[in-house]
Amino acid sequence: MTGRIHSLETFGTVDGPGIRFVAFFQGCPMRCAFCHNPDTWNPDAPVQYEMTPEELLAEVLRYKSFLKKGGVTCSGGEPLMQPDFLIQFLRLCHEAGLHTALDTSGVIFSEKARQALEHADLVLLDIKTLDDSLHKDYTGHTRQNNQAFLDYLHQIGKPTWIRHVLVPHYTDTDQRLTALAQHLSIYNNVERVELLPYHTMGTYKYQELGIPYPLEGIPALSAERHLHAIDLFRRHLHVPVV
Ligand code: SF4
Repeated sequence: MTGRIHSLETFGTVDGPGIRFVAFFQGCPMRCAFCHNPDTWNPDAPVQYEMTPEELLAEVLRYKSFLKKGGVTCSGGEPLMQPDFLIQFLRLCHEAGLHTALDTSGVIFSEKARQALEHADLVLLDIKTLDDSLHKDYTGHTRQNNQAFLDYLHQIGKPTWIRHVLVPHYTDTDQRLTALAQHLSIYNNVERVELLPYHTMGTYKYQELGIPYPLEGIPALSAERHLHAIDLFRRHLHVPVV
C-alpha cells in the first residue's frame, strides 16, 4: 500500500501544537471557492512522494528529536481520501510515541474515518460555513457530513480545534460569525478556534491550472475585520480564539 503525498513540511508551526512534521495528502473532493491549494484536488495529479506508511514514518523519524513537544499532522487536500494509508500511518506514528493530528474538512464521514480517528490525538476540523445554501455553492458539497463529523468528535470526546476562513462578503458578516460562535459554544471537546483571514496568494495556481478563480475581485480580509471576528468569538467561547 502506498500513499500519494503532495508535499512534506518538516518544521510546521501552524498545523497543531508545537513543531510538527506535516504531510499534505493529494486529493480532495471539496472545491472551496477560497482554496489556495487547488493543486491538491486531483487525486491522480503528479506528486512529490509516493511511499508506504513505513517509508513515510521513516522520514518522520529523521526529525523525531524536534517533534517531542509537537508531532505529526496529516493535512491536504483531504487525508481521508486515502483512508487505509492514513489509518496505517497514524497507527505507526502512535507506536513510535508521536502525537498525531488530523486536519480534515469532515466531508468524508465513514467507518474508515472513525477508525482513523482512533489514532488521531487531535482533530483540526475545518468549518466552512453554517449556511446550508452557501455551503453548497461555496464548496460543491452539503454541510451534512461536516456537522455529523463534529457531532461524532463531540460524542467520543476527541480534542478538536476548529478552523474557519473569514472571507469578505461571504463568511465575514457579523450575523454568520455570531451564529458560528454560538453553535460552537455547546461543544466542550472544542479546545481552540482559529479564524483564518482570506488571502489571495493562491490565485496564481488557478492560472497555472487553467481554472477560473471563483472569488475574483474579493479582497484579502483586513486586519481590522480579523480582530473584530476574534473579539466576537471570544464573547461566546471560553477557549483560545486566534
Ligand atoms: S477542503 Fe481544503 S484542500 Fe479541499 S478544496 Fe477546501 S480548502 Fe481546498
